Amino acid sequence: MHVAKIKAGREKSALHRHPWLFSGALMPLAGTPASGETVKVLDSNGRFLGWAAWSGESQIRLRFWSFDERETIDRDFFHRRLSRAIQLRAGMHAASDAMRLVHGESDGLPGLIVDRYGDVLVLQLLSAGPEAWRDVLCDELEALTGVRAIYERSDADVRELEGLPQRSGLLRGDMPTDTDIVEHGLRYRVNVAAGQKTGFYLDQRANRQRIGELARGADVLNCFCYTGGFSLAALRGGAKSVLSVDSSGDALEAARINLSLNDLPGDRAEWVEADVFQYLRLLRDKGRSYDVIVLDPPKFAPTAQHVERASRAYKDINLWAMKLLRPGGYLATFTCSGGMSADLFQKVVASSAWDAKADMQSIGRFTADVDHPVSVNFPEGDYLKGLLLRKV
Ligand code: SAH
Repeated sequence: MHVAKIKAGREKSALHRHPWLFSGALMPLAGTPASGETVKVLDSNGRFLGWAAWSGESQIRLRFWSFDERETIDRDFFHRRLSRAIQLRAGMHAASDAMRLVHGESDGLPGLIVDRYGDVLVLQLLSAGPEAWRDVLCDELEALTGVRAIYERSDADVRELEGLPQRSGLLRGDMPTDTDIVEHGLRYRVNVAAGQKTGFYLDQRANRQRIGELARGADVLNCFCYTGGFSLAALRGGAKSVLSVDSSGDALEAARINLSLNDLPGDRAEWVEADVFQYLRLLRDKGRSYDVIVLDPPKFAPTAQHVERASRAYKDINLWAMKLLRPGGYLATFTCSGGMSADLFQKVVASSAWDAKADMQSIGRFTADVDHPVSVNFPEGDYLKGLLLRKV
């Protein structure tokens, strides 16, 4: 067993049970652990701090599995952690049959994402620790959930930082190409193999519902619509018209299918394949205006290094959306960038309002839905932030 010692004065985050240790906080090790190997972590005086997975290539060199010295990191450990995560979500099934079952660090399983779509599980391994335990995780998930299939979507960019290859494919069972899910009574067809992320943006579930409640009688503009989540919610909520924009033709194709799966007034929906940055300006040139606008762009700032450029992008779309908003109208604006704090996002939005000469009030905040918990020891887990604004 390899032992890693933390430099004197650098143990504070581990004592506070933050799950990450950066390479700069460690003293040189005797030997080199294998990728994903469990390492015993001690403070500079040799006192036990925790058990952690080794990521030799990553700046985040260790991720803690446990802070309990009596615990052994083995099959039983993963069984306990996985069943705890599933148990904690036991009461949440009413809203949907699709749900995030494991949310990485915040469920005590750093680097592991598990999403359930009906009787299919999608597994995403984002760091060396869960990568090393892949088979065990599959066995235990299969036994705990009794699903028909497990599909791997370890094709996220962050794996490159771990020196891990992109990988996706069927791991267990057999599976149809598409899986239908029902969320708050709306049916969506999810393609877990080819869709973005693990197939669907489960984190926006409650926020889609909220937009539905605001949409009665409204002209709605849904930017970055993907497979139409906010659009369908708005139509069901009684929107007068819904214009949805995305740059992905595949996503729009899926959105049209989703619309057809539900008993909704399809003639009120219009789908446009375009770049939102340009299209907002075009709408302004045409003199169009809206009662409800949703801005749910992709991650502009995956890490803190991208924040400045990302801020300009967020400022731009929010500015144009505010110009297109009618007085009394609502703007639901999101960032899912880990590198963007809620505080900075608020400031960026305020500068958009200033430049748009729009008087905006914040009347609510959005977060990821309840199946995406955020451990209080891990503020980095709070990636999805949104503001509900009203134009005065
Ligand atoms: N709101 C959606 C999720 C949005 S994900 C839901 O609830 O399901 C972000 C979307 O933005 C993706 O579908 C992606 O194709 C799209 N996208 C990325 N860059 C874009 C751009 N510049 N213009 C338009 N769409 C873009």
